[in-house]
Amino acid sequence: MSIFSADKKFEKFEDVTPEILKKEKVKLLLCDLDNTLRLHSEKEPADELAEWVEDCRKAKVKIVIISNNGRKKMMQKFCEPLGVPCVWWARKPVSVKLTETMEKYNFKPSETVMLGDKWSTDVLAAKFAKVRAWKVEHRRNIV
Ligand SMILES: [Mg+2]
Repeated sequence: MSIFSADKKFEKFEDVTPEILKKEKVKLLLCDLDNTLRLHSEKEPADELAEWVEDCRKAKVKIVIISNNGRKKMMQKFCEPLGVPCVWWARKPVSVKLTETMEKYNFKPSETVMLGDKWSTDVLAAKFAKVRAWKVEHRRNIV
């Protein structure tokens, strides 16, 4: 697949279902945070995010949040109730944090997907790490 395009596109994270993850043999899902799993205005995980994380966990898919956001305390506070590890100040498109995370949890690039909203950071980092790049359009607005 071209470096210029994501391997799969979704409207929102909820559309990445456990069924799709299973079909695509994804065992490690690296997720961007801002505008992928939350809007900047969301200080706590939304209910649908907590449910989605739980569904992924039941499907035996490990989630690790990898963000360029440098606000360590905010990220820890956000991620802790979800029970998912987080990496802050990842400096995507540099792919070193993606590779380190795969090594830390013992997953191969072929078992891994990077999910994010931005081509210039998330998609490129995935390409450099030689993992699949899945792109979401946006985090939906809360009505
Ligand atoms: Mg983002």
